[in-house]
Amino acid sequence: MKTEKLDINSLVRDNIAGLKPYSSAKSEFKDFKKDLIFLDANENPYDNGMNRYPDPDQTDLKEVLSKIKGISTNNILFGNGSDEILDMIFRVFCEPKRDNIIINVPTFGMYKVLADVNDIKYKSVLLTDEFQLDKESIIRQVDQNTKLIFICSPNNPTGNLIKKEDILNLLAKLNKVIFVIDEAYIDFSGADSWLNEVNNFNNLIVTQTLSKAYGMAGLRLGICYAQSEIIDVLKKIKMPYNVNVLSQKKAIFELVKDIGLKEELEQIIANKEILKNELLSIPFVQKIYPSDSNFLLAKVDDADKRYQQLLQEQIVVRNRTSEPLCENCLRFTIGTKEETKELIKALKTIN
Ligand SMILES: *Cc1c(COP(=O)(O)O)cnc(C)c1O
Repeated sequence: MKTEKLDINSLVRDNIAGLKPYSSAKSEFKDFKKDLIFLDANENPYDNGMNRYPDPDQTDLKEVLSKIKGISTNNILFGNGSDEILDMIFRVFCEPKRDNIIINVPTFGMYKVLADVNDIKYKSVLLTDEFQLDKESIIRQVDQNTKLIFICSPNNPTGNLIKKEDILNLLAKLNKVIFVIDEAYIDFSGADSWLNEVNNFNNLIVTQTLSKAYGMAGLRLGICYAQSEIIDVLKKIKMPYNVNVLSQKKAIFELVKDIGLKEELEQIIANKEILKNELLSIPFVQKIYPSDSNFLLAKVDDADKRYQQLLQEQIVVRNRTSEPLCENCLRFTIGTKEETKELIKALKTIN
């Protein structure tokens, strides 16, 4: 199924549609065949591996990722973490003080923060009791100024995947609104990525990151997949050197190497099972929610109290009790086997 052609420029802010992006010599002469002497960017000429500005198009990294993910380099954009990509999406599509977005709560806190930073109104639609989309409410909330709908799948902090048919249904029905599917945790889930659908749905943006399953949160590399027209407008506002030389090199190295990741994922999922089973026997744990991610959300008798007690045991978890539908819920990231053991020991100690 392919949605009807969507005029992306009609959704883009006027100032962005008319924007002429910054151009660097690095991009202009990228395909030049002969060796060039670069005396254009006021760099220090003495080579230390770092003296030149990074490739603004991240060409080599895109090619590596393109092969791994089976998608054209024209459908890929990198950011300094997915946080930067999300911010770019706001700045391209949302006119401050006029436009609005929809978030499905409880969810990742950054969408709200970015809406506030960009002076964009957000409408919160509560997930169902099973932490799935409330489609009717979403449809009701959409108005002519609704530009973006954020769907986090697997969702943070609830941990579950969002049903594919619900998303398909909304994508087709609300075809003048851009859907941003945040797949920060997709590699823990075993589900297919929505990136395979970006050329079937013109209104779809998928974000991923090397911060979680790939074990490179310190690298700051976020990935955006979308049809090329969307990628092209995002490129217009991308800071030319947003992904530094070290990050590009390290990401290529790790992605090409691609060993160890599978074992780490299996270990994390095994540790999750161990923790889940142990949590079941802790008297103050009332409920453990299904998880397709690398964390567990659990309802306890008194989240504030248990949070503080764990802290006394030198273990920091995330207290989500003030989030909607998450009263008295703690979120446990799955650590190493040893860390999991320590957590279980602490949970058994406190009472
Ligand atoms: C951790 C997380 C991210 C990662 O953001 P980066 O900036 O790429 O590190 C994105 N979305 C969600 C929902 C997350 O939980």
